[in-house]
Amino acid sequence: MKKISIAIDGHSSCGKSTLAKQMAKGLNYTYVDTGAMYRAIALFCMQNDIIIIDGQVDLNKLENSLNNINVEFKLNSSGNRETMLNGVSVESEIRDPKVSNCVSLIGQEKIVRVKLVDLQKKMASQKAVVMDGRDIGTVVIPDAELKIFLTADVDVRTNRRYLELQEAGHQISKEEVRDNLVSRDEIDSTRVESPLKQADDAIVIDNSNITREEQLAKAMELARQQIDS
Ligand code: C5P
Repeated sequence: MKKISIAIDGHSSCGKSTLAKQMAKGLNYTYVDTGAMYRAIALFCMQNDIIIIDGQVDLNKLENSLNNINVEFKLNSSGNRETMLNGVSVESEIRDPKVSNCVSLIGQEKIVRVKLVDLQKKMASQKAVVMDGRDIGTVVIPDAELKIFLTADVDVRTNRRYLELQEAGHQISKEEVRDNLVSRDEIDSTRVESPLKQADDAIVIDNSNITREEQLAKAMELARQQIDS
């Protein structure tokens, strides 16, 4: 059967990784969460004083450290992929709101993007991949057979993210969650280096008013059309 590459891009917290994971499982493809890779580098920067208190990035220090940052994915004993930072699993740490608050600062730096895009292109080179992020259909896999641009109303996204964070035990207000989504979307869409934007040939799915099951059915139908073509 023909193997394809699937790129899923879109705004913060609109369910890209949920959809990407479900599709990868259904098609027996590899799932790559590129946001986790930016989050891992942001965590490294927080741990090593590369992000200075007022939200500035120490670019010299970042440049000198970049070769010492190794980000990869490993399967754990339950068969789930975990994000590894220099050999240590950081899967839950990178979801902390503190990391969400500074990840877009790190993601706008060209040297970080060059490193991660190169790694992501290698991961996608074998096809049979579902990759989610912000620049997958435009920069990382511009020749992906299927590109989906996911979006949802900001209040719907805020509510979903808020519930997720509550369930994970984080003390955070809805307002803080909303502010973080809005500010990340703003930085991600306006940065100079590969900003978040819909690829010309992407198919938009707005999931504000559809269930996860309906969204998955729609996306799988699009994938099958490409696989069978
Ligand atoms: O997907 P997630 O919300 O975990 O991504 C966290 C952040 O990483 C985004 O807000 C964005 O700043 C950055 N990112 C990016 N390019 C990608 C994936 C994520 O700039 N391909």
